[in-house]
Amino acid sequence: MDFLLSEEQLLLRDTIQRFVDQEIIPVAAELDRNHHPLPREILFDFYEKLEPFGYFSCLFPEEQGGLELPYLSFGILMEHLRRGYCSLAGSVGATAATATSLAKVATPKQFEQYVQPVMAGKMICGVGITEPNAGSNTEAMSTKAVRKGDRYILNGSKIWISNGTVADYIIIVANVDEGDGHITGKGRFIVPTTTLGFSASIIPKMGMRSYSSAEIGLSDVEVPVENRLQEGDGLDATYVLLNAARTQAAIASVGIGQAAYDIAVQYAQDRQQFGRPIGKFQLVQEHIAEMAMDLDAARLMTYRAMILVDSNPKCFKECSMAKAFATEAGIRITYRATQVMGAYGISEEYDAERLYRDARPFTYLDGTTEIHKLIIGREVLGMGAFV
Ligand SMILES: Cc1cc2nc3c(=O)[nH]c(=O)nc-3n(C[C@H](O)[C@H](O)[C@H](O)COP(=O)(O)OP(=O)(O)OC[C@H]3O[C@@H](n4cnc5c(N)ncnc54)[C@H](O)[C@@H]3O)c2cc1C
Repeated sequence: MDFLLSEEQLLLRDTIQRFVDQEIIPVAAELDRNHHPLPREILFDFYEKLEPFGYFSCLFPEEQGGLELPYLSFGILMEHLRRGYCSLAGSVGATAATATSLAKVATPKQFEQYVQPVMAGKMICGVGITEPNAGSNTEAMSTKAVRKGDRYILNGSKIWISNGTVADYIIIVANVDEGDGHITGKGRFIVPTTTLGFSASIIPKMGMRSYSSAEIGLSDVEVPVENRLQEGDGLDATYVLLNAARTQAAIASVGIGQAAYDIAVQYAQDRQQFGRPIGKFQLVQEHIAEMAMDLDAARLMTYRAMILVDSNPKCFKECSMAKAFATEAGIRITYRATQVMGAYGISEEYDAERLYRDARPFTYLDGTTEIHKLIIGREVLGMGAFV
């Protein structure tokens, strides 16, 4: 895969790989077992350590104080963090993505108040779109923001919101009523989590247990009109964000898959049964070969999509292909890793069982596999099959 990376990206990869091996992997299993979710103080300890690598600023233009790296460089950073500790990487990824999308439209005051602290690793944030009755069909959302003088009053509920219980602010998407009883469209609002009427409760889940997924309640939550985001960023910017988010789910699965693959290969070489290493059995080799093929294909598709994110805002097909393939491959790879390891595959003594659980959520978030197949079909055939 090295042929796709520049000299700088190879150096970045080797540096972050070493850091993750030394600082993250040795503590990940225990933290994941003990904290559901990771508390803010632990997250900020990690944020501080990760900030120098550019996790929170690498995508910002230089004039905004960022490193202005290619999108694939951010992908490499995230791949290795996901490989080391998926739940932690989830928090970092949600915060970085939220602030990056905010920065595209932020006023100077919003930038100073809500983006700069993120770039310094000192704020946590997320985005609230999904609702209990509006999943894939986001148009069905019922959360409302009603204008009252110089404020908007928000009412409704959101579900599955990343960082929901640990965030400083959530960007809430809501139907907007300018005060005359009519919905004029959708708007995005910065809602500090300390605002009266905002509540967040954790949703216990199968994988990424130490990652905060929350149900959010909004009961007469008041925000000043200046907390509404200006949406004059143009369609291309929205496409870039959408496609970028999809490749993030894909690269997460590549990172998790790599971790599971490494464990299974080592195990197949070491574990002896019937007087030989189990790697000498053809059926075990089949598992390893299938894992190697899935992992390579997933990484290639994802790197290609990430390269395109910078050059072609309308790379829907490639991003949906990477998202659908890599996230399903992540499940296959982690399943095979646990199978190669026999009963030890589900023991908490090894990381394989956590990786197996952690791979599972990625076929839902940022569009389910089914939705991405519909996008691929639409792009290939030139006709939509969405109902
Ligand atoms: C770990 C995690 C983190 C998340 N983080 C966030 C977040 O930060 N912010 C946020 O807003 N949301 C977040 N989500 C929510 C995520 O975006 C939704 O789960 C996703 O949009 C799917 O919605 P749903 O789960 O309600 O499934 P549904 O939409 O109810 O789908 C159920 C099933 O029906 C299928 N289906 C639905 N519509 C169609 C169709 N037209 N054609 C064919 N099949 C269809 C789906 O593919 C799926 O198999 C997160 C979810 C997870 C698991």
